[in-house]
Amino acid sequence: MSRIISFALFLCISVGMTAQAQQDQPQQDQPKVVKINDSIYMAPLGANVYLVTTPTGNVVIDTGTSGVAPVARKLLGDESHGPVKYIILTHGHADHIAGISLWKEAGTQIIAQRNYVELVNYVARLEGFFAPRNAAAFNRPPQEAGPWAGNYGAKIDPTILFDETYEFRLGGVQFQLFSTPGETPDHLTVWIPKYKTAFIGDNYNGFGEPEPMSFPNIYALRGTKPRWALDWIRSIDKVLSLKPEVLLSGHGEPITGNAEITRRLTRFRNAVQYVHDEVVKGMNSGKDVFTLMQEIKLPASFDMTESFGKVSWSVRGIYDGYAGWFDMNPSSMYELPASSVYPDLVRLAGGPEPLVRLAQERLEAGKPVDALHLTDVVLAYDPKNNAALGARLRTLEYLREHSENYLEVGYLDYGIKATKDKLASK
Ligand SMILES: [Zn+2]
Repeated sequence: MSRIISFALFLCISVGMTAQAQQDQPQQDQPKVVKINDSIYMAPLGANVYLVTTPTGNVVIDTGTSGVAPVARKLLGDESHGPVKYIILTHGHADHIAGISLWKEAGTQIIAQRNYVELVNYVARLEGFFAPRNAAAFNRPPQEAGPWAGNYGAKIDPTILFDETYEFRLGGVQFQLFSTPGETPDHLTVWIPKYKTAFIGDNYNGFGEPEPMSFPNIYALRGTKPRWALDWIRSIDKVLSLKPEVLLSGHGEPITGNAEITRRLTRFRNAVQYVHDEVVKGMNSGKDVFTLMQEIKLPASFDMTESFGKVSWSVRGIYDGYAGWFDMNPSSMYELPASSVYPDLVRLAGGPEPLVRLAQERLEAGKPVDALHLTDVVLAYDPKNNAALGARLRTLEYLREHSENYLEVGYLDYGIKATKDKLASK
């Protein structure tokens, strides 16, 4: 589990994450370069950085967080002093692009898939929105976002942008790049036929490796545009079709041997396919999103945990990705949410006391989500109600104790702290 967390700290944290926040991330002790073969080196720093050497120059694939990038630069720079001809960015998340300036030389080409531009603009555009959400997920103090960068305010480092494929040769080595959208729309896969090696970015990370692997985040709680499951599946199929003997990912360890790579990637893509298809079947049969969140479970044969991504969140991510927010209930068309009448319900119940008691009973009956909703009702009537805050705190702590998902734990910790602060401020 601790390994899962250390990898996960670097994954998906990137949206809205500032340089200082990244420097606050823990680093592994005394990292050593992993030599994949005579030409490929990996700096395993949570966010992996790769160096591919050729007789006429080098290629860097991903550049790490701002915290680990200087370490990666030093470690990999010691392996080869050749000129850096290309930097390839598997996608535009900050844990992959923060070290660009450390590698860039006069004449270095920087390559990304074309959707990179919108991805980094989106991150910059919504920096103020993402800052507190990232802080909550990763248990950091909230950070001030800078002044609004505007809609197109991000720095665009790539000098080469491609749509479907891009290919170049360097020192007699052929590099093929493929658009493989998945965790992000700009994801690319680097394929080096000579070494039968695929660099898959974060489309597969092997959390929980060697086994059991975790289900991915088809939706990330910090907020993401839809991650299209069918694109992701097609992208995994593309990598499988290359028949790699070595699979190198953005986080996690190298996987070697085509049989093993095929086994793991196939299980991963089939799990995504299963959840996607169950959501679609449910939507077509008129089921609402919450029913599907409750009903859809991965069959045990997949042998996957939910330590990184949760199936229920992905169900909602897929459903909402396809359909957006309207649920056919006429009440939902209007500006006032159901919670606007919570205070009336508390008054009708004769005050908070019976509702707080009911919350406690539900918690004791193993229904913590019911209890949480009931505290929402009371706190809408009286935000400082001591008994409701106490019931809420106990409920959040219960949920935290029973959670095996590190992102869920992050947001529960955030809720626990907020509740304790309210109790203390009375
Ligand atoms: Zn990443």
